[in-house]
Amino acid sequence: MPFKTIIEPFKIKSVEPIHMSTAAQRENYIREAHYNPFLLHSQQVIIDLLTDSGTSAMSSEQWAGILRGDESYAGAQSWERLEAEIKDLTGYPHILPTHQGRAAERILYGYLGGKGKVFISNTHFDTTRANIEFSGAEAYDIPCIEASDHESEFPFKGNMDIVKLEELIKKYSAANIGAVILTVTNNTGGGQPVSMANAKGVAEVCKKYGVLYIIDCCRIAENAYFIRHHEQGFEQTGYRTIAQQMFSLADGCVMSAKKDALVNIGGFLALRNEELSTACTNLLIITEGFTTYGGLAGRDMEAIAIGLREVFEDDYLNYRIRSTAYLGEHIRAKGIPVLYPIGGHAVYVDAGLLYPHIPAHEYPGQALVCELYKIGGIRAVEIGSVMFGKYDDNGKLIPAPMELVRLAIPRRVYTQSHIDYVIEVFDDIYTNRKTTRGLRIVKEPKFLRHFTAHFEEL
Ligand SMILES: *Cc1c(COP(=O)(O)O)cnc(C)c1O
Repeated sequence: MPFKTIIEPFKIKSVEPIHMSTAAQRENYIREAHYNPFLLHSQQVIIDLLTDSGTSAMSSEQWAGILRGDESYAGAQSWERLEAEIKDLTGYPHILPTHQGRAAERILYGYLGGKGKVFISNTHFDTTRANIEFSGAEAYDIPCIEASDHESEFPFKGNMDIVKLEELIKKYSAANIGAVILTVTNNTGGGQPVSMANAKGVAEVCKKYGVLYIIDCCRIAENAYFIRHHEQGFEQTGYRTIAQQMFSLADGCVMSAKKDALVNIGGFLALRNEELSTACTNLLIITEGFTTYGGLAGRDMEAIAIGLREVFEDDYLNYRIRSTAYLGEHIRAKGIPVLYPIGGHAVYVDAGLLYPHIPAHEYPGQALVCELYKIGGIRAVEIGSVMFGKYDDNGKLIPAPMELVRLAIPRRVYTQSHIDYVIEVFDDIYTNRKTTRGLRIVKEPKFLRHFTAHFEEL
């Protein structure tokens, strides 16, 4: 390409107004929200980078599909389209539609789990871990060694540690392993990609011990971009073909369509094994719906089928991954510490490094999300000691390993000027960094406190 500007590969057909606000108004809004951006009203936010889940903009084709949706209870055409699309993509013969990714997780891991069972992953996403632990089973994360080296520019920090995988299978014995779950990209591990070589390595170990191998494929299209551009031998391979090769290595997959299917709701479970699929289908009918709609409307299934095609288009993926990197690289160049290399769906800022004077119990990540909101109306999420901190028996905080803030980029929603604005806001974040103060928690629930906790500025 002769030009360095990456243009959005779409034109805007329908718009949603952003409600502008002044810094003085935002001071009030965030105080009223008890310094917790989860408690803000969406209309008080200018740029919403809280999550990439369910926040995608659909294409005109998808909206056309919404009207075409066949709402028949059984055997709807929209289901047949979706089933054919997922079969073609994954190569798995048994497809179970669900209303979200976690419903597919509950069905599969609820069935495979239970007391004494063990699940192993590069990193379990929080709903994955919750569903496994709720069944009474245990979940072990074994990210690769490079994942914890912040200086390393290793391009596949989402990989699983294959040596540890074999050790764990031997330790707990193959019969007790519920499943090995490869999350691509590794969401909780900084959105970092997984290489094809690693996916193959995991497959070999699983085959050797006869253990079930599941891919959590929420962001497999974004992952395919990294394989084509950073792994030898894939330079000429299409993104969809790369994903198909990865699916061919495993026994099934779980997907939240709210990510790489470019829709606002939906998910599915796809399996190779008939017996397992029959057992899961029974649970599907009890808790989600009949086999030809799961928890979905016909229109949702139509939109997912179309989104699963669009997400693999060259121009889309190039724009998607390069624009995430654009944000990360620009704020990094200003001196803002970010996890590097930049992953697929989000930029992670290390607030602990940005604010070395704010101790963990004064929540540097929460200080940064409040600053981002007050200065620019930008909403981001703390993923440090507010989200993952625990208390010891004396009520003292056991901090999270890192004080991160995630800037997640919704798909096809914001343009480069929105992102340039975010980058500019970081100038003020950087200038104010030495005088930024931490917060104190004044009210918190017992579980998942980050959603509803109240804070006070120190
Ligand atoms: C979002 C997500 C899920 C859960 O999907 P929901 O649709 O939110 O229920 C599972 N795994 C990963 C990696 C995710 O990112």
